[in-house]
Amino acid sequence: MVLRRQLFAWGLVTASVVAATGAWAQAFPNKPVRIQVPFAPGGTTDIIARVMSEPLGKTLGQSVVVENKAGGGGVVGALELSRALPDGHILGMATVSTTAANPAINPKIPYNTLTDFTPIINIAATPNVIAVHPSFPAKDFKAFLAELKKNPGKYSYASSGTGGIGHLQTELFKSLAGVFMTHIPYRGAGPALNDTVGGQVPIIFDNLPSALPHIKAGRLIPIVVAAPDRLAALPNVPTFKEVGMEPVNRMAYYGLIAPKGLPKDVVDKVYNATKQALADPAVKKRIEDTGSLIVGNTPAEFAEQIKAEFEVYKTVVAKQKLKLD
Ligand code: GLU
Repeated sequence: MVLRRQLFAWGLVTASVVAATGAWAQAFPNKPVRIQVPFAPGGTTDIIARVMSEPLGKTLGQSVVVENKAGGGGVVGALELSRALPDGHILGMATVSTTAANPAINPKIPYNTLTDFTPIINIAATPNVIAVHPSFPAKDFKAFLAELKKNPGKYSYASSGTGGIGHLQTELFKSLAGVFMTHIPYRGAGPALNDTVGGQVPIIFDNLPSALPHIKAGRLIPIVVAAPDRLAALPNVPTFKEVGMEPVNRMAYYGLIAPKGLPKDVVDKVYNATKQALADPAVKKRIEDTGSLIVGNTPAEFAEQIKAEFEVYKTVVAKQKLKLD
């Protein structure tokens, strides 16, 4: 005890005393909290982060701001997040692209998806969709497949980035269907959608929330969805499972992570604040109206889910021999 008092006087045990009393957690949040979106504005990651920022700000008692850091299929932002200070004031959106697909296809990416982050909560799961520009000479899956088979290499498809969910899932689709299309990667689904709606690229693989408004307005025609069942919003569109391509029938997730080493008290605070926000019927409705399902699982469950998804993508990459060009 004497020694401890002596060390304290020298300032050497201050940190452990503060941590043990939870004083750090009480200090969180003591300034605005940033949610980093590793893609451009207009994509599903951005949409979910922006729906959550205001209610989260209310429950945390500090403003919550969304920051876009796009590039490299989400890897640029995820890397920056992995190296940030783990004090809760910077959180990040975890996507399938950044936490599973890209780490699976590119073992050289400079962060470890399983050890460099603190998973907090999976907010929502979203279906995926392949959609085409209205000028594309097919309006349903059968005609779409026939058109691609007839014209190998004629068409290109847009995705939210290299190595991401849209890229790997479409490559999986191509290999199962025996068709060829050229991949055009963007800095997120927002710019990918702009070019598809504008007619520069005829086909897109997207997560439903960002594509749905364009589908509803007739600017894109939905061809096939990845979801357990047909979607109420698109009752005439088959699932990948129905068309015999079950491996492509995987949803995306959008959750909150932080750099590794986020103190447990801060994890709990962000988790509880997010749960509280998701329990608000208005917030719930805003998320569900995008075509997403609310998840709201625990930090341990979300960690397991990321690990499982990473394993799935590793298997897909190995089995289909997918490689980055
Ligand atoms: N496709 C990405 C993912 O779900 C998100 C793309 C975006 O938000 O722009 O992993």
